Amino acid sequence: MSKPLGYFDLKEALAKRGCPVCRLEFRAADSAIDSLLWESVNDVETRHRLNAARGFCRTHAEQLVRNGAALGVSIMMRDVVHTVAEILAAGEFQPSPGLAVRKKLPGFNHGGSPATDVLVKTLSPQAECPICTAQHAAGTRYLQTLTENFTGADSLADEYRRSDGLCLPHFRRALGFVTDAETFRALAEAQLHIWRQLTDQLDEFIRKNDYRFQREKMGREGDAWQRALAAISGGSKWI
Ligand SMILES: [Zn+2]
Ligand SMILES: [Zn+2]
Repeated sequence: MSKPLGYFDLKEALAKRGCPVCRLEFRAADSAIDSLLWESVNDVETRHRLNAARGFCRTHAEQLVRNGAALGVSIMMRDVVHTVAEILAAGEFQPSPGLAVRKKLPGFNHGGSPATDVLVKTLSPQAECPICTAQHAAGTRYLQTLTENFTGADSLADEYRRSDGLCLPHFRRALGFVTDAETFRALAEAQLHIWRQLTDQLDEFIRKNDYRFQREKMGREGDAWQRALAAISGGSKWI
């Protein structure tokens, strides 16, 4: 029987370290950046969206720094910088009655001023970072494939159990795709197994840091602290 889209990508990613969907999302973002740079720099709709998004999110801006990107990025960012400059040039300070009094009250100013509210809102993203959109869509496809293939023939459950598992943010998203009790039980059991194993390794790492046991050699628990950060927060730094 033919396998659904992404099944083999998942199988491959489950054999590697870190959250498989973080890894695959990173790859999807990477190809979205490539196609943006090589195919869409002069596409009017793409440029319009990027301006509306007020540029890329921080993560993807950093990911855009790559060989051959300079000209494409210059063309796209020239538009965005021009857009925000125009907004600021047209922006106005809008004093409201009572503002001066409230400003003097201790603890009033938490960084939100009604006088600059409109400008702040206009300078804020009006659309999602286009690479985030592509990345999220890829993540959704993979999480759907994972949950739809967690039980039955050629289930991914065994590979999952042996892997680092999904990070917590992706596990929460995966739960949103679970529609039957059998998948829920299998996924929850595998995830619990992974988290309990990680807890044991953290315990072991902490124990070996006790001066009484410091001569004991570090094993797999040596990098458990980094794997715990990855397991709870996700992200591409760990893959
Ligand atoms: Zn993840
Ligand atoms: Zn982004």
